[in-house]
Amino acid sequence: MTLGFDTQLVRIRASGDNQPLSEPIVLATTYSAPSAVRHRELFQEGATTFYQRVGNPTAAAAARLIADLEGAEDGLVFGSGMGAISTALLATLRAGDHAIVSREVFAQTRTLLDTTLRDYGVETEFVDARVAENVTSAIRPNTRLVYVETPSNPLLHIVDIAAIARSLTPGIELYVDGTFGSPALQSPLALGATLSIHSATKFLGGHSDLLGGVVSGRRELIARIRHMQFLLGTLLDPHAAWLLMRGVRTLGVRVRRQAESALALARKLVPHPNVQSVSYPYLEADAGYAIASRQMRGGGGVVSFTVKGGTAAARRFADALQLIPIATSLGGVETIVELPYDLDFLSEGTDGGNDVAAPLGGTIRMSVGLEDVSDLWADLDQALRTA
Ligand SMILES: *Cc1c(COP(=O)(O)O)cnc(C)c1O
Repeated sequence: MTLGFDTQLVRIRASGDNQPLSEPIVLATTYSAPSAVRHRELFQEGATTFYQRVGNPTAAAAARLIADLEGAEDGLVFGSGMGAISTALLATLRAGDHAIVSREVFAQTRTLLDTTLRDYGVETEFVDARVAENVTSAIRPNTRLVYVETPSNPLLHIVDIAAIARSLTPGIELYVDGTFGSPALQSPLALGATLSIHSATKFLGGHSDLLGGVVSGRRELIARIRHMQFLLGTLLDPHAAWLLMRGVRTLGVRVRRQAESALALARKLVPHPNVQSVSYPYLEADAGYAIASRQMRGGGGVVSFTVKGGTAAARRFADALQLIPIATSLGGVETIVELPYDLDFLSEGTDGGNDVAAPLGGTIRMSVGLEDVSDLWADLDQALRTA
């Protein structure tokens, strides 16, 4: 029986007599083995009951849950989204390899590729991946990886995952950071991606109380990334793994409601006299709308908009908000705003940093939570009038 998404979220997996409905948190860092030979086997198998950095039962349960939601053979959970991204990149790229990366990508992902991995001999080319041909035409004999983020941070650019997947030759991986969509609204693997990546800190956790990252994909690729995770020590800890599973149970209802409220607010922002532009993939006028409405099941909980009057006006607007706090991150139950311009300028180490930040003057990135839309709009409207 194929189960619907929301059913999978809350389905009880434990079988047998009198099983707990909530996964136990196993804190043990090490386990006793019945014999030396069995101890050796447990290590060789990468058992989740050997040593906690190799794997632990609570993290393994969280990884299985996410992989099932993504329709993947296997998955892994990490101590942060960047833990997932850095581990996956290090497991994939070697000196002499070429990577094609969407230009609008999470700031630390860009910095890692543009500094550390460049120093290690990996050449990264940043392209405007909103046009799939820009990716295809950048392919070289030594291209190993295409890495895209969709919807992107912070301007919600949309990349056509299926179009890029179709154009890739075997041997080139396609990694998708789908944090902004979450598995509730987007299924990158079904569209042809070879690895689906999320910062679990955002919608998956959903309550601004856990740092985590996840990847899902085919068994052999996950095995290679698991080996790198073992070397780097980037596994998620059991308490956070439990919180992740707890958060994921309500993923569907949360994200659908957040997307509904975000669309309602985006529609109200468009005609506002103090708003210059609004980015939201489910607005019919948005550049990404045609692709987003095909490859997503909702526009997501993040809206970006530009306040008239540039950065100074955007700061005045944010300071004037009474209900909505200024805070980084996204995907939580509470609505928050940040000024990506101010934060991106400080992403050290990239030549591209200032180029990327410059067009963001006046931009507000808003993560929409579960409040009543009327309260959110009242706060946005009064702050826009003040700005
Ligand atoms: C937050 C975020 C990350 C990094 O995740 P952390 O959990 O903060 O390490 C990566 N990609 C995207 C799109 C994000 O929003």
